[in-house]
Amino acid sequence: MTSVLKIYNTLSRETSVFEPIHKGYVGMYVCGPTVYSNAHLGNARTYISFDVIFRYLLHLGYKVRYVRNITDAGHLEGDRDEGEDKFAKKAKLEQVEPMEIVQKYTLDFHEVLRQFNTLPPSIEPTATGHIIEQIEMTKKIIANGYAYEVNGTIYFDVEKFSKEQNYTALSNRNLDDLLTNTRELDGQDEKKGRLDFALWIKAKPEHLMKWESPWGEGFPGWHIECSAMSSKYLGHEFDIHGGGMDLVPTHHTNEIAQNLACHHTQPARYWVHTNMLTVNGQKMSKSLGNSFLPAELFSGEHKLLDKGYSPMTVRFFMLQAHYRSTLDFRNEALQAAEKGLARLLSGVKIIEQLKTDVSSSFSVSEIKANVYNALNEDFNTPIALAHLFDAVRLINSVNDGKEHLSALDKAELSIFMQEITFNVLGLKHENDAGTEKVDGLMKMIIDMRADAKSKKDFTTSDFIRDQLKEIGIEIKDGKEGVSYTIL
Ligand code: AMP
Ligand code: ZN
Repeated sequence: MTSVLKIYNTLSRETSVFEPIHKGYVGMYVCGPTVYSNAHLGNARTYISFDVIFRYLLHLGYKVRYVRNITDAGHLEGDRDEGEDKFAKKAKLEQVEPMEIVQKYTLDFHEVLRQFNTLPPSIEPTATGHIIEQIEMTKKIIANGYAYEVNGTIYFDVEKFSKEQNYTALSNRNLDDLLTNTRELDGQDEKKGRLDFALWIKAKPEHLMKWESPWGEGFPGWHIECSAMSSKYLGHEFDIHGGGMDLVPTHHTNEIAQNLACHHTQPARYWVHTNMLTVNGQKMSKSLGNSFLPAELFSGEHKLLDKGYSPMTVRFFMLQAHYRSTLDFRNEALQAAEKGLARLLSGVKIIEQLKTDVSSSFSVSEIKANVYNALNEDFNTPIALAHLFDAVRLINSVNDGKEHLSALDKAELSIFMQEITFNVLGLKHENDAGTEKVDGLMKMIIDMRADAKSKKDFTTSDFIRDQLKEIGIEIKDGKEGVSYTIL
């Protein structure tokens, strides 16, 4: 390999060489979903991005502990502890227990990620399974002087904290601007400062999901769960903390404050944030009403869709953008992704059939170096894909007799293309494309065309060739017989 892995760190605002705390090991925490509704395609983008990061770290030989939580309690509608509890609200709407909501949408989330071929995390802890740890952490923050109680609710004292530490270090926002843009407190508010947030919330008598605590019955705030669970499974200091960019100004800012106030350590060395999936330039989100469910995308049943797209087409479409760039949802881009994916998979398959020569007319090590350089540059999948397509072009040229490849190079290229395509990028064959059934079908069509040609029925033989081209399959008449390529 010709370069070392570099990662962009939101905290330092720099791309730097990745140096894990313990050689050979990586601890990575990614904020998981709030399971009160179906996972939309924007959520999927974030988890697919971290899946590639996880897969690449494994490929590089690290032993990775990937922790991704499930938020199944404590998330109010507003990120700053305003509004109704998301689970209670949905449970009322669907007339079920809050834990039925949690169960239903956790299953949905897992199913969506399974369809996108993401690997499960090493540990998937839930907020409700870690109430004791959250209470203990809250007690310590109070003891250290950074939180206070008002009528059974515990607030983090941002004002006090920000006199000693840079509260907005992660977002790089000006604290005064932040204060100006935050709602002023009124007579209804219990908290002392506008930016103070709840670590523990007193439960109203009718609230169903509540637990005993030193401050009476209540439930944890949203931010404390990630501090408690990351500390428990990865320690007070670990390597990577990730999530969507929308979590930077509040959730992750508060997580850092909690960890510093409790353990006196900034939890993660590298803060990694994925950019948003947008629709016509606007963030895809439930509240804006512009979100797709993955199932709608697969079936094509949505007003913004021309047709359905397979999970691997969607995954490929997402990999064509760098994880820190926005990605706008467009039908044309998905159609191009469909063709691109087929071309890549067909290229990987064709290597097996290539005839070998005594030497090679191009350098396999150069192809490998280019792909690794791209992935090492902050997991740059679009550039890596561009180099994989260069390789596919060369593979097709060998197939056409315009380039040649030695047996050793062929074996090396084959292993490399498979490893990157399937194990690192997490793509796979779907719907039997390029497999035995399609090969069988293509043989039948090619034979029919040959038959038409032998009878000098060129209208039919040309029709078959043109129709195949239209759907992205090219047939070629070569010395060795007729072959086909998915374009
Ligand atoms: P939530 O379930 O709302 O807590 O979101 C789960 C994850 O999805 C978080 O890391 C969010 O940042 C991320 N997310 C939400 N909307 C989008 C979007 N449109 N594009 C990419 N990631 C998103
Ligand atoms: Zn979190």
